[in-house]
Amino acid sequence: MNIILMGCPGAGKGTQSAKLLQTFPLHHISTGDVLRAEMASGSALGKQIAEIVNQGNLVPDELMITMLENIVKSTDKGIIFDGFPRTVAQAEALDAMMKRLQREITHVIMIDLPQEEVVNRICSRKQCKQCKAIVRVDEKNPAEKCAACGGELYTRPDDTPEKAARRLEVYRNSTLPVKTYYQNSGKYVEVNGNQTPEKVFEDIQKILEK
Ligand code: AMP
Repeated sequence: MNIILMGCPGAGKGTQSAKLLQTFPLHHISTGDVLRAEMASGSALGKQIAEIVNQGNLVPDELMITMLENIVKSTDKGIIFDGFPRTVAQAEALDAMMKRLQREITHVIMIDLPQEEVVNRICSRKQCKQCKAIVRVDEKNPAEKCAACGGELYTRPDDTPEKAARRLEVYRNSTLPVKTYYQNSGKYVEVNGNQTPEKVFEDIQKILEK
């Protein structure tokens, strides 16, 4: 099973990936997490990446494709692709890479969320530095520590209203065409992301167990 989890920023790809990992023996690749690890390392590449990511823009395709190929080759397990592909060029490169490695994308799952929900959702979340869990925060729950692992929670620099709006614009222009790319592949399915995480996961599980 090799699954692409698609959806706009804030749709719940990270949350659903974590749930999938508890149920299926899969390897999770979040390109966002890979990029954040490179930024945190303080390397010259990480600094270049930070300038792009913190503006809400996309990292160039060639770099993403090389990074991804190295990770895919490092595992024999089925993979959850979370946040990749984000452009049609990345989708084409992924197809070619999977063919070369004699592997196959089995499911493309789009977590569908009304665009009005996006900025609100993004601006009311924090991420755990340690286990990468996403936590909803509000005035009543200004969480500082991760309930799952005790790690420090932080607000991503690209999770401000301005950057969230920019990321949504980038999503509409560059990533939505990826939906069209997969729509007639026989592998594409949509789930309603405007439900509780548990209900979204139930819907995803039904798709995978068919
Ligand atoms: P995410 O954690 O998936 O929301 O990704 C955070 C940011 O990392 C995105 O807004 C982009 O700047 C960058 N990024 C993540 N995945 C990709 C990708 N496949 N292609 C280009 N940029 C990416």
